[in-house]
Amino acid sequence: MANDPMNLTELVRQVRERLALEASLGVTDLILPKPPPEPAVLPWPATQNAPRPPAPQRPAAPLSPEAQKKAEALSVLEKEAAKCKRCGLCDSRTHLVFGVGNPDARLMFVGEAPGADEDRLGEPFVGRAGQLLTRIITQGMKMQRADVYIANILKCRPPGNRPPAATEMVLCKEHLLKQIDIIRPATIVALGAVALNGLTDGNYSISRARGQFLLWRGLKLMPTFHPAYLLRNPSAKREVWEDIKKVLDALKELSL
Ligand code: SF4
Repeated sequence: MANDPMNLTELVRQVRERLALEASLGVTDLILPKPPPEPAVLPWPATQNAPRPPAPQRPAAPLSPEAQKKAEALSVLEKEAAKCKRCGLCDSRTHLVFGVGNPDARLMFVGEAPGADEDRLGEPFVGRAGQLLTRIITQGMKMQRADVYIANILKCRPPGNRPPAATEMVLCKEHLLKQIDIIRPATIVALGAVALNGLTDGNYSISRARGQFLLWRGLKLMPTFHPAYLLRNPSAKREVWEDIKKVLDALKELSL
């Protein structure tokens, strides 16, 4: 009831929260109300110019016995993948980029292939596009990167960031399918057309397929734009946010 001051306060709080989330993803065509001015704080002279301490991170929770088993199975699989010579990409890579995150994750993100930063560091989605994906997870979804699992279809970088060849994806997908079978997430977000079509052996247009769950291998697969596309087309962030909200709703439903 709008006349009920308690409900009105709650409504305002929810609208503010929603606007702040959209703004964090770069959806800026709505104007946020100015926050109230922060109370003046007089710092100690010694700390006046001190760098801000890092934001507090939730300490990693100890793994459950089930998660521990999954972590061990993933570690065995990673060692197998490190020896893989099925396609020529192992010859030009610096590091295998196997995957990272919670071995017992309910949500998994899948991209197409490592880029230069990922190849250098051995971790998926750590370049500019990866930083945007991290903001979607932390600021938009209010989760931590370590809560989800992130991987690519290809485990080795195609030279010069060329698109993965169809044969490379077929040969490498077996590693990813085994990863998915170990983790058994409830939902996968396919980032971009290459990831979507590589996973499903389909021929989808990402613009048409995004935003609708597909049932794939018994789990919910949400196609959406790749973060690298969002860097080139920031206006598409609104559509990705709509897709991500559906993923959050599905995760909530699945936990009921
Ligand atoms: S890209 Fe995949 S299939 Fe090719 S060598 Fe690397 S791990 Fe093996």
